[in-house]
Amino acid sequence: MPYTCANCGKKIKDFAGFVRCPYCGSKIFTKSRPNITREVSTD
Ligand SMILES: [Zn+2]
Repeated sequence: MPYTCANCGKKIKDFAGFVRCPYCGSKIFTKSRPNITREVSTD
């Protein structure tokens, strides 16, 4: 399931063991799904 960074909008498909945006460092992502956009935060 690809994710989209909520901060910079980049799509991240491979998290490779870390959970933050490799482009901007954001930890807020949205799941790339039709119709439903859900924010996911990593507690
Ligand atoms: Zn980002």
